[in-house]
Amino acid sequence: MLRLDSIHFAYDQAPVLRDVSFTAEPGAITCLVGPSGCGKSTVLRLAAGLLPVQQGEIHIDDRLCGAAGVHVAPERRSVGLVFQEGALFPHLTVLDNVRFGVRGGNDARVDELLELTDLASLAGRYPHELSGGQRQRVALARALAPAPRVLLFDEPYANLDQALRRELRNEARRLVADLDTVAVFVTHDSDDVTALADTVVAMYEGGIVQTGSPRDVFDHPVHASVARMFGQAQHVAARKEGDVIETPFGNWPADCLAVPVAASGPLNLLVRPDGMVLTADPDGLPVGELRFAGADDLVVVRGARDTLALVRLGRPH
Ligand code: ADP
Ligand code: MG
Repeated sequence: MLRLDSIHFAYDQAPVLRDVSFTAEPGAITCLVGPSGCGKSTVLRLAAGLLPVQQGEIHIDDRLCGAAGVHVAPERRSVGLVFQEGALFPHLTVLDNVRFGVRGGNDARVDELLELTDLASLAGRYPHELSGGQRQRVALARALAPAPRVLLFDEPYANLDQALRRELRNEARRLVADLDTVAVFVTHDSDDVTALADTVVAMYEGGIVQTGSPRDVFDHPVHASVARMFGQAQHVAARKEGDVIETPFGNWPADCLAVPVAASGPLNLLVRPDGMVLTADPDGLPVGELRFAGADDLVVVRGARDTLALVRLGRPH
């Protein structure tokens, strides 16, 4: 496994990570999520050994790879990295790009990797002769070449279309399970999380705010940044009085909250379109335009003080 214990990190004097701890298990995908700039890539660089650990410890299996004064070089810690752009050598063919990652250039191993990632028929092509998805597969083959214990993905699918992302996600899942590799996948795409994650580690401003299964973080986000990641969460100003939450859309029971709130007083709710239900009430709230949202429609509802909210409607089939 890959284990980070109480990692603190600063570039020059600027603190970027504080007290980051998590464990990523083999054969499973740990998705590291959070807003841009929160420190996700820095975590991966530390795990890969591209940055020295200043405070805290990094273990791969039972080996201490990074700590203050301890630094195992990247090529000696059994990690493979896959970046957004793939970072292939433009002047090398697919075969040679993959061979670059194989110690001693062992041809049987290169062939095996090309088969594994379905690239055999493209071995003679150059990176500029490949599609974005094919380049990403070459990058994966090269990262897998030394049979690393840990695979680190840094937003690898950010520039690819949805259909291709689905295909690559399935491939990544299969490989990680088959090879029993530890995989940490950085993303801020909620579809990556739902399709890939066994465990979600959510970061905000350099710290970890929540760790759990995708369902946990979707149903019970403990931080606004986590709630905002999934499903168009919208702000609704409200007020809690005892067991009732007064909102511009009527009174709601306090137990509708994803996380319990003890005190009475003002609340800033985050509500998803499917978190509200429209009831047939002739004296109810004015309803505005319908918006097409794929399988469902969304409807704009106007509450008190001209507050607008989107509410999901099932569409008759
Ligand atoms: P993320 O991957 O979540 O977008 P990063 O880990 O890249 O975040 O960056 C975290 C913070 O560290 C940001 O504020 C960023 O500007 C800063 N940072 C990243 N790399 C460097 C660097 N090489 N030198 C100084 N600051 C950096
Ligand atoms: Mg990043």
